[in-house]
Amino acid sequence: MPPTTLEEIQNFEGKYPKQLWYLFTVEMWERFCFYGMRGILALFMVDQLALNDREANLKYGAIQAFVYAFTFMGGIVADKVLGFNKSLIFGALVMIAGSTLIAISPNHFFYIGISLSIIGTGFFKPNISSMVGQLYKPTDTRRDAGFSMFYAGINIGSFLGGILCVYLGKYVNWSSAFAAAGGVMLIGLITFHFSKKQLGPIGLSPLLHQPKGKRRRNEILVYFLALLAIPCILIMIQNTQYTDLFMYTIGPIALIYFFYEWFKLSDKRFRYPLLAALIFIIAYIFYIAFFEQMGGSLSLFAANNLKHELLFFQIDPNMINNSSGALFIVLCSSPLGMLWIWMAKKKIEPNTLIKFGIGFFLLAIGFYLFFATRFYANEQGKTSLNIFTLAWFFITLSELCIGPIGMSVITRLSPQKLTGMMMGLWFLGSAYGQYVAGLLGADMSITDEKASLYDKLLAYTEGYKQLALYAVWIGIGLILINPIMKRMMRAKSGG
Ligand code: GLN
Repeated sequence: MPPTTLEEIQNFEGKYPKQLWYLFTVEMWERFCFYGMRGILALFMVDQLALNDREANLKYGAIQAFVYAFTFMGGIVADKVLGFNKSLIFGALVMIAGSTLIAISPNHFFYIGISLSIIGTGFFKPNISSMVGQLYKPTDTRRDAGFSMFYAGINIGSFLGGILCVYLGKYVNWSSAFAAAGGVMLIGLITFHFSKKQLGPIGLSPLLHQPKGKRRRNEILVYFLALLAIPCILIMIQNTQYTDLFMYTIGPIALIYFFYEWFKLSDKRFRYPLLAALIFIIAYIFYIAFFEQMGGSLSLFAANNLKHELLFFQIDPNMINNSSGALFIVLCSSPLGMLWIWMAKKKIEPNTLIKFGIGFFLLAIGFYLFFATRFYANEQGKTSLNIFTLAWFFITLSELCIGPIGMSVITRLSPQKLTGMMMGLWFLGSAYGQYVAGLLGADMSITDEKASLYDKLLAYTEGYKQLALYAVWIGIGLILINPIMKRMMRAKSGG
């Protein structure tokens, strides 16, 4: 018998609610599609659209920024009008349309297809995470473990997508890579369709109290506005100067909206926790700005400056850049989860903010290793894929201290009717991170056509050393504000 009430779902026994596995699978396919496309963006633009490294970095950053910026709107629309179910279905359909269009003719439909993917992901991504949060009661201590498992799903998808689409794009043809992304998203949509029954009231429209006709009109208006946004996005991603304008506008608007909801809160106990959530989001912006070098500068660094040998076998460095992090996550999430549980038993488990601080230190080690690759370079500017992969190992550990823990804390600190918005804000933070990532990448790159691969290696690795230093400082800063944050979080739910 499928559950009919939230109570029934939240009173689950054992470690994970069974609905988690459905959401895990759906998100896995969505991330396959998303990371598959993401892995080939910069490469496709350089190879087929004749962009240079700098332009490709900027455009990549802009696309990523738009993708995550629209999650803020997707989150609000789900809270206020569509509910999570309909948002997810609409988002998936638009994503499928986007990848299919590009697959039909990559060079003609690239930008329009990407615009569709941006809108689609905006409707999909924050809302599936919010649904995971709703499987748990506010006080349930199994929430972090649930999000860690969900995060493993995200990464299985991104690993497979990263491998398959990069392979298809680089060695078969670009159309097949985009077609694979769309096909897999279709599987995700079908899986979600069959999972809905198990989710009881989670994801239903927030407007069920309205007459059906009025509700329908509101929904249609949302779909219409979403489609209307597509040509605007198209213009903005083709002209990167508009990206700046968009980014300067959307952040302040989002903050004003956040404080509008904050002042309106009927349950005042959520006020300090929501502010604490905002601080986590700000830390996440910094994290993503570093982490997302993966799709931009590190993608080009991998293509230009890395040998094709990993330990004893041959492999394309872009596949490693795109997928090793995800593979390490899948391998490390369970041991790390066990470490947290062991520490919790001994009462020495670090709180969420300290975990964030540790995350930044691990990130610094990773970037220092990217810098250190320069010591192993030959005269052609080709260096060790082994060190590069080791760096990804540390960055993965850092991600595990920040990504799932962050999503979990956001759903824990938010009142239910604002979960979509807060999750959207978390990913909007990610959008700003992506945007800064593009700028950082562009700053590190050399535009001089005649620059040798060795010059490029020196320029990129110098940039990575700087990033390592900044990461250390941010980690220290977070640990220093821990006492204040603890008090803010405790206002509702304990730190
Ligand atoms: N890797 C995570 C995911 O895909 C986080 C992505 C992000 O915030 N940029 O969900």
